[in-house]
Amino acid sequence: MANQTTASMAATTPRTFSGIQPSGAPHIGNDLGAIRNYVRLQDEFEAIYCIVDYHALTSTHDPERMRRQTREMAAALLALGLDPDRCTLFVQSHRPEHTELAWLLMTVTPVSWLERTPTYKEKVANQPDDVNHGLLTYPVLQAADIVMYKATTVPVGKDQAAHLELSREIVRAFNRRYGETFPEPAAVFTEAPVVLGTDGARKMSKSLGNTIEIFAPEDEIRRQVMSMVTDTQRIKRTDPGRPEVCNVCQLQRFFGEDYIQLWEGERTAQTGCVDMKRLLADRIIRHYAGARERYADLMAHPEQVDGILEAGADLLRPMAAATMAEVRGKMGLR
Ligand code: ADP
Repeated sequence: MANQTTASMAATTPRTFSGIQPSGAPHIGNDLGAIRNYVRLQDEFEAIYCIVDYHALTSTHDPERMRRQTREMAAALLALGLDPDRCTLFVQSHRPEHTELAWLLMTVTPVSWLERTPTYKEKVANQPDDVNHGLLTYPVLQAADIVMYKATTVPVGKDQAAHLELSREIVRAFNRRYGETFPEPAAVFTEAPVVLGTDGARKMSKSLGNTIEIFAPEDEIRRQVMSMVTDTQRIKRTDPGRPEVCNVCQLQRFFGEDYIQLWEGERTAQTGCVDMKRLLADRIIRHYAGARERYADLMAHPEQVDGILEAGADLLRPMAAATMAEVRGKMGLR
């Protein structure tokens, strides 16, 4: 198995790492913006992917939901193409070294860097009654996740760009104080770094309730697509459409080669928004049909999913131990 060599590889092996929260089943924004790259990079890098349950604790406080959604996210990622023979998939809390490394990195991270992070400000606004300390230190834990495995490439959506920049600053601060230890990680984006939600205005996000889900029942996916806001200036069916600003047209780019013809139909008012939405819904359902079947199958065999996650965490133990020994030594802890 390709995985067997993972732990013993030298730190210089090009590695990719990314984390995703178990905060509900993934939507097409997650797939087009990040998961597609997770799948692609499995063949080019030594790939490590993590379900970040420690991170999710900053907003989710229901233990049953946490357990269920962690397994659902794992099944979803496997169904979408993560292959345990070509990547390592694990749950963050199964490698508790992540929290120790986060603490150590906190000691090189000025509070002001964290306070100015846009996502922190957003979270404070979104959950004013639950401004827990984890929200502030979230990017430090994220930096720890990445540098634990000395990953250089991090596939994420554009909303994570500021966090990645902060990870790089934290790495530089650590290396300056204790000597060259970690490589600076770089974000890698897909062709759809920001997928807009059904409101056509804000990024598609579970917390905003504007998603098109991948694993929901078919009629729910249709309902979500049909609710999409299109070109708000196209009032009558005979008005010419503007595919550049219509989110439905933008999404057609990822679900068929013929989008240029579809756009022409919109521009010349041969097709209407409702036609475009019906087509998009059909195509999304068809595109994910295989993944939806695999997901149902995996959820019917949860022991398989749990086994893959356990094996992933076990495999990473030596790599995490080596990083922790190096860091503790450099910081004068051992
Ligand atoms: P959400 O914002 O829905 O809670 P997550 O924070 O779990 O999603 O994101 C998981 C991954 O998917 C991250 O790499 C994130 O950048 C990416 N992602 C999330 N939403 C979008 C989007 N609308 N467009 C592009 N990428 C996205």
